[in-house]
Amino acid sequence: MTRDKIEIITDVLDANRVVAEENRRILKQAGVFAINLMGSPGSGKTRVLERTLENIGNKIRAGIIQGDITTTLDSERLMKFEVPVVQINTEPFGGDCHLGANLVQRAVKSMDLSQIGLLFIENVGNLVCPAEFDIGENLKMLVFSVTEGEEKPLKYPLMFRECGVVLINKIDLLKHLNVKIDHLTQNIRRINPGAEVLRLSAETGEGVDEWISFLKDRINLYRAS
Ligand code: MG
Ligand code: ZN
Repeated sequence: MTRDKIEIITDVLDANRVVAEENRRILKQAGVFAINLMGSPGSGKTRVLERTLENIGNKIRAGIIQGDITTTLDSERLMKFEVPVVQINTEPFGGDCHLGANLVQRAVKSMDLSQIGLLFIENVGNLVCPAEFDIGENLKMLVFSVTEGEEKPLKYPLMFRECGVVLINKIDLLKHLNVKIDHLTQNIRRINPGAEVLRLSAETGEGVDEWISFLKDRINLYRAS
């Protein structure tokens, strides 16, 4: 065997990518569409999940992996939906501020995938490193609150570039803020012209229908692929 035929995994991102591809295969085999749900702490990721579970209908069965450094608070909020929820705390593994593909794989393997068609993986709240780690998802999704300001797409471009869909959340608060949503949207488009950008308030429900119909379209595309 010659040296150049050996696949050399040179760094942590390469190693992660290999496991992520395995995750993607496992999920595809089970027909599960997986979403990597990212966003800052307090942007409304769990609130958006709650709204989504309320509105997705009973034809699509969802499951959830909850990533947090510590606590099971978000998982507890989701218990009422009677969907499978698996908690990952990164603290025993060094307190990582993002999920890696290996921890996600453990969680995925602990679930009965035959019971679900849609898997949300709520990442650790953070606009930086979660964007660097492929976890085997089919769609990267960002929940971004209007309270975070117009300039963040320019300051955290990798996150905005990686995401296929950006939900601009908490639009009910715009009237209290000196934030122009059109300017924010332009900044997102400058960084990622291909991203789907949707506006909603998970709190009031405004814009949730558009989000749900986008999500259903993406699931159908995946199933047909
Ligand atoms: Mg949360
Ligand atoms: Zn991190």
